[in-house]
Amino acid sequence: MISQKLLKSLKKAIKFDIKRLEGEVKEYRKFKHLGTTNEDNALEFEAFEESLSLSKLAEKELKELKKALERIEEGKYGICKKCSGVIEAGRLKVYPAATTCATHAKDK
Ligand SMILES: [Zn+2]
Repeated sequence: MISQKLLKSLKKAIKFDIKRLEGEVKEYRKFKHLGTTNEDNALEFEAFEESLSLSKLAEKELKELKKALERIEEGKYGICKKCSGVIEAGRLKVYPAATTCATHAKDK
């Protein structure tokens, strides 16, 4: 089982990350026009594409972290969805949104 102490610190870390990511998504969405020339526009488009994909990544991470929080509340956190075994504490510390143990991490 995962200790309450670890759960508490993971919950804190997850909440912190959610806040950080929400801030990031907001920043990416704030994207404004940079210039008026064609060259500027090309650069602008590139930057826009980049911020869009970054924002998508951040949103995906956000979703996973929120789900992890839900699992903590439901008492289902840290259980591998493939083998129902306990996910290694070390793995959860590195990747709090993990839904599989280290053994099943590869075959998603
Ligand atoms: Zn497993």
